[in-house]
Amino acid sequence: MRCPYCRHSDSRVVDSREAEDGLIIRRRRSCQSCGKRFTTVEESILAVVKRSGVTEPFSRDKVITGVRKALQGRPVDDDAVALLAQKVEDAIRARGAAEVPSNEVGLAILVPLRDLDEVAYLRFASVYRSFESLADFEREISMLRDGLRDVGPPDEPDEPGEAEPDRAGKLPVGTHAPDNA
Ligand SMILES: [Zn+2]
Repeated sequence: MRCPYCRHSDSRVVDSREAEDGLIIRRRRSCQSCGKRFTTVEESILAVVKRSGVTEPFSRDKVITGVRKALQGRPVDDDAVALLAQKVEDAIRARGAAEVPSNEVGLAILVPLRDLDEVAYLRFASVYRSFESLADFEREISMLRDGLRDVGPPDEPDEPGEAEPDRAGKLPVGTHAPDNA
């Protein structure tokens, strides 16, 4: 690791400590040439295995790029997207596996994206799950509605004939997080 001050290539570790529950290690280093100190962070590489079998390091930026594409024209700010990418990385790292198939990264994106923006979720799902027909969208939308109804406020009792056309067209009030507004 090069010294960020003088570019010397040799440094000595003066302190090492674990952070974030042992997922990363911070090392305090002292430059052998100029004597200045700097900190490095070490974490294991999370490898994403693509369908072709090629592996590449997990990239939060790639998640952000993909999600932004799906969010085009939608009223969602960059902070929310960065937070989503963080959630995706946390969810994947929490499994503790060194390698994760790329489709699981996609899955890990779908869940928080659904909470963030339904339209972007459908766009992303349509590409990621290779929707081929209107029926694919219809199925996904109806699952989306069911899911939203499940987390909706309990003020509407679930009647036996719950597929009234009138209600099916409306999303329950209060399912949007206020910080989306
Ligand atoms: Zn130096």
